[in-house]
Amino acid sequence: MSALVLGCIADDFTGATDLANNLVRAGMRVVQTIGTPNAALDAGVYADVDAVVVALKSRTIAPEQAVAQSLEALQWLQAQGAQQIYFKYCSTFDSTPAGNIGPVTEALMDALATDFTIATPAFPDNQRSVFKGHLFVGDVLLNESGMQNHPLTPMTDANLVRVLQAQVARRVGLIDYRCVAQGDAAIRSRIAQLRSEGVAIAVVDALSNDDLLTLGRALKGMPLVTAGSGVAIGLPANFCIAPSIAASHLPKAAGHQAVLSGSCSLATNRQVQAFINAGHSALSIDPSRIAAGDDVVAQALAWAKPQLQLHKGPLLIYSTADPDAVKSIQGRLGVQAAGEMVERTLAAIARGLVQLGVRQLVVAGGETSGACVQALNIQQLQIGPQIDPGVPWCYALSDVAAAGTSGLHLTLKSGNFGSDDFFSKAFTVLA
Ligand code: ADP
Repeated sequence: MSALVLGCIADDFTGATDLANNLVRAGMRVVQTIGTPNAALDAGVYADVDAVVVALKSRTIAPEQAVAQSLEALQWLQAQGAQQIYFKYCSTFDSTPAGNIGPVTEALMDALATDFTIATPAFPDNQRSVFKGHLFVGDVLLNESGMQNHPLTPMTDANLVRVLQAQVARRVGLIDYRCVAQGDAAIRSRIAQLRSEGVAIAVVDALSNDDLLTLGRALKGMPLVTAGSGVAIGLPANFCIAPSIAASHLPKAAGHQAVLSGSCSLATNRQVQAFINAGHSALSIDPSRIAAGDDVVAQALAWAKPQLQLHKGPLLIYSTADPDAVKSIQGRLGVQAAGEMVERTLAAIARGLVQLGVRQLVVAGGETSGACVQALNIQQLQIGPQIDPGVPWCYALSDVAAAGTSGLHLTLKSGNFGSDDFFSKAFTVLA
């Protein structure tokens, strides 16, 4: 672990993977941990890691808890030797006047004894740009993007200087696009000027990847960076790390292949259909049978076992359904109860599949992925090659597998990510 240079704290699980994916593409060797580990990374398995991303679930919890969890992650990252800390939040700046972006930023600044940091969710490749401190999602302002109706973190103001100022005691300022366009020396001068004026946090404009790369150079040596995942593309070069295929190298894949899908998003519905149309084996899980008390897990594993033994290629087990079917079961059981019931079932099937020798597993659905990772008792993921934007293959150890064969290739796809042929393509990328 002596190589670790960048320590990252992400406020949710799929956001952590998004950040890790950007760092890998910029040349870093990255491990993502599920929560703050209670021991050092296993040097035998994860030698020569450049960055660690600690995935928290702190975006919408109480600010005091988010602060406590983030400080715990910081301490662990510092103990591993991290030279620079990156606090990663959502590219739509998901937060409320109570937090958690502001309070966590200030707590990290206090702990690092630093008087200045930046804040920008800009990620032009993903349609997020910041202009004069205002966040645009595609062509519209944040507060017209649909985010104004978010159930937990409604974003009703696109002016990030104002949004962040409402969350912090320190003064918030702006480094605008004209300054960024003049280069990293101009950004550094602007930072010195803001500092002298008593500004502690600067929102930074960025309209293109070039802006992010310029900003990255100006952030060399800054103890704390706060951003979406976009800024990550400009940081590895500060540590003399250049993009390379080697960064995404994972151990060789072996074992059976399976897809588990609990996402009901439009993209996943298309992916399930495309996989079936391509002639692969698929089994649909009916939530009403789970609710009726059938042993759906045993039935699914009994269906899968002979096919896996015959090495018939990837198979799919899915609860993915169209909106009408989902609404119908939710109407009977309640939204929360239906979701948790299906998640528990798919997670138990994931365990069973790994016990049957599956070592290449695609999981579709953010919550579903969380449930499966937990059921497989996975604590750390090494990040590998990208399948589609934001979705890399990962490698993890699971003690659910037979001793000596605990290595598992895993990809965790959040609902709307990935092309229609994602489920087949994933295995081709790994091969
Ligand atoms: P996404 O990333 O698309 O949002 P998630 O896994 O996060 O996917 O969320 C999907 C939710 O829907 C999960 O709680 C899952 O258990 C639930 N679910 C899956 N299939 C069904 C179904 N057929 N009926 C009702 N709920 C379902």
